[in-house]
Parts: sequence; C-alpha cells; structure tokens
Amino acid sequence: MRLLKEGNNVEVEPYSFGAGTPIIIAGPCSVESREQIIEIAVEAKKKGANILRGGIFKPRTSPYDFQGIGLEALEFMLEAKAKTGMPIITELMDTTYLEQFVEYVDIIQIGSRNMYNYSLLKAVGETGKPVLLKRGFSATIKEWIFAAEHIAKGGNNKIILCERGIRSFDPYTRNTLDLSAVPIMKRETGLPVVVDPSHGTGIRSLVGVMSMAAIAAGADGLMIETHTHPELSISDKEQTIDIEELGEIIENMNKMISK
Ligand code: PEP
Ligand code: MN
Repeated sequence: MRLLKEGNNVEVEPYSFGAGTPIIIAGPCSVESREQIIEIAVEAKKKGANILRGGIFKPRTSPYDFQGIGLEALEFMLEAKAKTGMPIITELMDTTYLEQFVEYVDIIQIGSRNMYNYSLLKAVGETGKPVLLKRGFSATIKEWIFAAEHIAKGGNNKIILCERGIRSFDPYTRNTLDLSAVPIMKRETGLPVVVDPSHGTGIRSLVGVMSMAAIAAGADGLMIETHTHPELSISDKEQTIDIEELGEIIENMNKMISK
C-alpha cells in the first residue's frame, strides 16, 4: 500500500483539497467555444467558484454525439484561466496528449470510464500532477482504492477522489450517488474526496440538495456542471445548472460550514 491513511492534502495553488474548506469546481460539461468557456469562467468566479472544469475530449456513450473540440479547446481554457486566475481541470482520455496536459493543465481528470485503464493510471502516476480520479460507474470501493494505488505506485500521491454515482437497478436517476463512499474513502485512503452531483443524479433539480448532502457527509469539494445558458449545452444539459443556482449552492454551503 503506497497510500498514506492520513492527511494527504492535495495542493492546487492557491487551494488545498482536504484542508478543511470545500473547493468548488464548476464549468460546463464540454468546452463548446472560446467565448462560452471564458464567459462561464468569469461568471462562475464571481459567484465564488474556485476551479474551472470543461471537457475538451469527451468520452460519450454514443459515438454519434459531440466528442469535444480537442486540443484547441485547451487554449480557450488557458485564456479563461489567465482572465480569472482559476486553475483548470480537464479529462485525459489516453496518453496521446499527456505531455501537453502535464505542461498546461492544473488537475488531470481521469473519467469514470477510464478508472480501469491501468496503463493510463500508470502514466499519470509517473507525473507530478494532481489527478482527479473518478469512480468507475460499476466500481466497488476496493476496485476504486486499487485504481488510486496504481497511480500512487508510480510515486504520485496527489490524488483527489471523485464520487460521481454508480449504476444501480433504478434508472430513475442517471446514477445512484453513493455518499457513504465519502467517509469510507477518506478513512481508507486519507485522500481528499469530492462529489459530482451532476453526473451523480443527471437531474438539475437534484444538484443543489445533493451538494449540501455531500458537504454534510464530509466532502472536500464539489464538481458541478454549470453553464451560463444550460438549455444551450451541447452535452449533459439536463443536469447542468445556471450561474444563479451555482451562487445559491455556494452561499448555502458557506452557511453550512460556518455553523
Ligand atoms: C465529466 O466529468 O466530464 C464526465 C464525463 O464524467 P464521468 O467520467 O463521471 O462520466
Ligand atoms: Mn458531463
């Protein structure tokens, strides 16, 4: 076991995951244009979001759906970062662009579908970059811990875990958000755990309440799909909230943690 069982805070300047204050990661499912990601970053930052998310390579269930703009969109994210000061996170789907991600991205996201991609885990484990490791949608707690160990084995302990819902027998919600995984994974690994209530539910009206539940369960942060015009989102619009709602969630969270 490479992972320490206590205190593995992950620093993403100027933030520290696991240090007590939950970190808010917000932004669209996909980067859709330069204007879109810059506008969302500016507005989300005003509401108190800390880190900007946005997919540039999208792991879509259907090959006929939008697959992401690709590497060019990383430049748009960097512009958004320069304008707002927000660190950026985006998903790496394979090792083709590992070098560019190491150079330009602040947190490398490993998506749910790639949690079992051991060569990808090994590759990011050999970098010194913070990695956000999403739970595979059918992954047991043990499998998820081992996936984190694959990264840590290469010497990279900068791992942020992300509970994003698992597949259950009930299709009412897109996934079943397993909030018990938050205290379990914190206890078992010592790593910070964030929660993604967007993919976790697939339903916009559930994102706010499940965000509060995640914070109550001890989450070290939230990853929330947010758009200035959710109805125009190219991907995952049913679960994407608007900027006003993001502001309300952050306000409610701040009230909750100050008690
Ligand atoms: C995402 O966060 O962009 C995403 C595709 O989520 P997941 O890997 O959890 O499905
Ligand atoms: Mn999405």
